[in-house]
Amino acid sequence: MNTDLYPWQTSLWQSLAGRSQQAHAYLLHGPAGSGKRALAECFAAFLLCKAPVQQRACGQCSACKLYAADTHPDLVRLEPEEEGKGILIASVRELVSKILQTSQQGGRKVVIVEPAEAMTIGSANALLKSLEEPAGSTVFLLISHQFSFLLPTIKSRCVLQVCPLPSTEDSVQWLQQQRPELSAEQCQTVLALASGSPLNAQKLLDADVLALREQVVAGVKQLFKQQSSPSDLAQAWAKIPQELLFDWFCQWAQLMLRYKVTEDETQLGLPDMRVVLKHVASRAALTALLETQDWLLEHRQKVLRRVPLRADLLLESLLLRWQALLPR
Ligand SMILES: [Zn+2]
Repeated sequence: MNTDLYPWQTSLWQSLAGRSQQAHAYLLHGPAGSGKRALAECFAAFLLCKAPVQQRACGQCSACKLYAADTHPDLVRLEPEEEGKGILIASVRELVSKILQTSQQGGRKVVIVEPAEAMTIGSANALLKSLEEPAGSTVFLLISHQFSFLLPTIKSRCVLQVCPLPSTEDSVQWLQQQRPELSAEQCQTVLALASGSPLNAQKLLDADVLALREQVVAGVKQLFKQQSSPSDLAQAWAKIPQELLFDWFCQWAQLMLRYKVTEDETQLGLPDMRVVLKHVASRAALTALLETQDWLLEHRQKVLRRVPLRADLLLESLLLRWQALLPR
């Protein structure tokens, strides 16, 4: 297990590790891709370590070695059995009985709950008593990307620690250190595509997002010039993740609607599509834009929920709608 912190987490770390007395439960919350997991891992290692050095886990003691091998018996993780699903009440009950036993290494026990919003009302209620009066010296670390979804009773039992995204400047600097082959401008583009999260930007780069974006933007331009048909493009884009395509088209629809209302040219998003969006927005009917946006949002939800749909047909109908925005 990795216990490195990101450079933007120094003061966050200080507010956790620098406490004179540790609380029973912490809730680390903030936008996805801000590094909450790394913070929780580092904190868990620190809480379990037998001889911390300068407010960090020593990396040498028996607890640190067990932690590094991900076999520490007093570290328990509570997660959904399947990504995107809820945390089951049975899993919570199992956890509660585990933390009632004495710690095997004679120190603290640490429970990481991620994501905390995946707990159903029943699961959350089953955990409440343990959160309030933890057995022995158990410390709960709850991670949440969607703070507003959590029950007030859960929030009120935890020390709340907000984990914000780093500033754009810090993000670009960090991204450039990770990917020295990229220009500052490319880093800014990927960061914008990743809604400001440098960690998500890195994942997008792994998926070769810059090349994909270029391909899609070129395709959209060809579509409007009638150099490509919706079905040609749907085939050409078959291997591009649909989440990505729907994200982009939803953003473009939103930008066009905003332009239609405000005529503010500075609010047209990334430079690669500004001219196209402005051109289409000024010619398309407002009702057509609104209908297209509704359709996109509805189908984006289906894509995110992995509703089985024929990918080629879905893309083709998206592109037919898109093409129809420009009156002939
Ligand atoms: Zn240690």
